[in-house]
Amino acid sequence: MPEGDAVWRTAHRLHRALAGADLTSSDLRWPSLATADLVGWRTVEVVPRGKHLLHRLVSPAGARWTLHSHLRMDGSWRVGPATAPAPRGHRLRAVLATESVRAAGWSLGMLDLVRTADEARLVGHLGPDLLAADWDATVAARRLLASGGPIGPALLDQRNCAGIGTMWAAESLFGEGIHPLTPVDTLGQERLVALLDRARGLMRASIVGGRPGSERGAGGEEFAVFGRVRRPCHTCGTPVSKLDAGPVTQERGFSYCPSCQLATEIR
Ligand SMILES: [Zn+2]
Repeated sequence: MPEGDAVWRTAHRLHRALAGADLTSSDLRWPSLATADLVGWRTVEVVPRGKHLLHRLVSPAGARWTLHSHLRMDGSWRVGPATAPAPRGHRLRAVLATESVRAAGWSLGMLDLVRTADEARLVGHLGPDLLAADWDATVAARRLLASGGPIGPALLDQRNCAGIGTMWAAESLFGEGIHPLTPVDTLGQERLVALLDRARGLMRASIVGGRPGSERGAGGEEFAVFGRVRRPCHTCGTPVSKLDAGPVTQERGFSYCPSCQLATEIR
């Protein structure tokens, strides 16, 4: 599943390709938007908000609307020259083109068109965005403390902090030596801030370098624990393990090192 850093890269790619130009064709293959026609509308900007994409547009009459999308499990936006063969396929959900470029949205998990002033209806529930310029770890830490429960699932709850998924949750918990099932309220504000800032650092490094950028093993592996179940921990050699945690029917997998991330704080 694309996490905040991947969504950030997608938003910036779409912004570079579309901002400032008028749309010359639009095709939204979404039941509620089948009659929407964005031809002549201009892209103001495309910005990420957690794992959400906000494509802000202005109509020829000056009305400001936002095309909101979410990549969910395996969605993507691909950009190419307008002269390339038209994309086609049953997974195609949206096509937006200018005179020079075409953006195609595939397997999108959400697609909405709302007045820009009403964006909060779609993203207002999100906690502080780990990759936003106004990121505030203390606010996110307070939300984590208020949510309670084990830290792993709490990190994934986008109402606490927006943009993190199982990959960066596992990597940042390993980095701070915290077991995924540690109750949030035993960690305290200071350790939660350190954990959140580590997650932000890993995600920012991913954006800058195109790779996670730290905790890289001797074998050149990108991750400390994510995707490394049963392989030796780079730090202590213990086989990396994995557990499921989270609300019933929404359990998610957390890779961790049973030695480096001791369960001593678990009640
Ligand atoms: Zn270890």
